Amino acid sequence: MRITFLGTGTSVGVPAVGCDCETCLSDDPRDKRLRTSVLIEHEGRNIIIDASTDFRQQALRIGLKQIAAILFTHSHADHCFGLDDTRPIMFRHGAIPVFATETTWQGLRRIYAYVFEPAPYAGVPRIIPHRIEGDFNLLGLQIEPLTVIHGRLPVTAYRLDRFAYVTDCNVIPDETCARLSDLDLLVIDALRFKKHPTHMTLDDALGYIERLRPRRALLTHISHDIKHAETSRSLPENVRIAYDGLTLEVE
Ligand SMILES: [Zn+2]
Ligand SMILES: [Zn+2]
Ligand SMILES: [Zn+2]
Repeated sequence: MRITFLGTGTSVGVPAVGCDCETCLSDDPRDKRLRTSVLIEHEGRNIIIDASTDFRQQALRIGLKQIAAILFTHSHADHCFGLDDTRPIMFRHGAIPVFATETTWQGLRRIYAYVFEPAPYAGVPRIIPHRIEGDFNLLGLQIEPLTVIHGRLPVTAYRLDRFAYVTDCNVIPDETCARLSDLDLLVIDALRFKKHPTHMTLDDALGYIERLRPRRALLTHISHDIKHAETSRSLPENVRIAYDGLTLEVE
């Protein structure tokens, strides 16, 4: 299984529009972060987690041609506003299976009302909706949807074999922690240094990494408060800041 970070930025992206801070003006490509999303390649098939606001740019950047399935974490704009831009793939290859919890479907049905009309126009996204109700099998992979807490909103984290993707949360409940042991790679939310009501700080993320003890951890959903090179120096050996385009194999 190969993981590629399509985007690692917080909801407004980095650089943020109108911001002149050091990170936003940085010429380090690792400080340029599109909205958070990840591609999982398994036996030549592609699964994406979330369809970010920047999906079109992300797909063009890596030459993405097919999507076997989309897994949604939640329906916040930065994670689902790219669904409409997956249409060229649907037009070529047919409807795409989309997996989300009922809470996330409620948001998606509201945002994408035109997709769910009884007789939609031909040009709308074609999806095959699946409601997540527990672990499921996809392309021969066991997918474990796990609940994490994003302020008051339950968000879906995903475990696939020894890889786990845990974005948009400030709390990982004990039941979920119990299912995140023995990981080769943990991807985890780390927004900034200062407390936030719905996201983890860098210290919060490091605390969970210490508790869960993955072999490697990568931080994502990063704001402009974190400058890649500078913050990287202070991280433990097995923790790195993810950046757009980073690709790695999960063992
Ligand atoms: Zn987000
Ligand atoms: Zn900035
Ligand atoms: Zn969110």
